[in-house]
Amino acid sequence: MRLFDTHCHLNDEAYQEDFTEVMARAQAAGVEELLVVGYDLASSEAAIKLAEENHGLYAAVGFHPHEAAKVSDDDLSRLEELLTYKKVVALGEIGLDYYYDNSPRETQRQLFAQQLAIAENMNKPVIIHAREAHADILQVLKEAGKNRRGVMHCYSGSVELAREYLNLNMYIAIGGPVTFTNAKKLPEVVKKIPAGRLLIETDSPYLTPHPLRGRRNEPAYLVRTALRISEILEVNPEEIADLTRTNAYACFEISPRPHIGNDG
Ligand SMILES: [Zn+2]
Repeated sequence: MRLFDTHCHLNDEAYQEDFTEVMARAQAAGVEELLVVGYDLASSEAAIKLAEENHGLYAAVGFHPHEAAKVSDDDLSRLEELLTYKKVVALGEIGLDYYYDNSPRETQRQLFAQQLAIAENMNKPVIIHAREAHADILQVLKEAGKNRRGVMHCYSGSVELAREYLNLNMYIAIGGPVTFTNAKKLPEVVKKIPAGRLLIETDSPYLTPHPLRGRRNEPAYLVRTALRISEILEVNPEEIADLTRTNAYACFEISPRPHIGNDG
């Protein structure tokens, strides 16, 4: 199996000690391509650095809604600059988080809309974090208008909401929670996502798949999510790997690179 982890935070300090080992385990598990996602300026710059230093790594840069209250106009200009770097393939993660409410909601909505406009100008797909905020996410997306590409990261909503996002040109990325023994809604969502819009991700170091819950997540564990989806859809795991990898290339406009794995 050859997999693309479309959302991980290898730029997080959780990997400071053992980044090389984590990468080796990802490689051994067939996770040959990874998108490292930023959430503020420092983590976005760190993501670019990792992407520049490692084959198969790409970067996304952006301001998480938690940061909204702290982001200045200068920060947004710097973001535009970062988006021009060669291995930067998306703007994210951006969105709204009404669960933690770390920044005022109006400020979150403003920053979300500003970053959508930047993505539009720079012609980059967006990676969207939505927590207890689907109605407002949809509203801001619709107001932003136009045809954009993007990803609903670690999707956890209903089938109906998924349809609305699909209509807005979004890909649906499924993470570790699909493996949880109490997951009921997510398997139903997986069955309804059109083949061409399905992505998989780990969101490492968070959302570790079953039965490894409780420990730090890492890209190698993406295999468990791929296997669970192949069970749900009753298709060969290879097919899920190929499909989601090809979708990632399309979504992020990446040219496939030569296979370097050892699984034949
Ligand atoms: Zn994330």
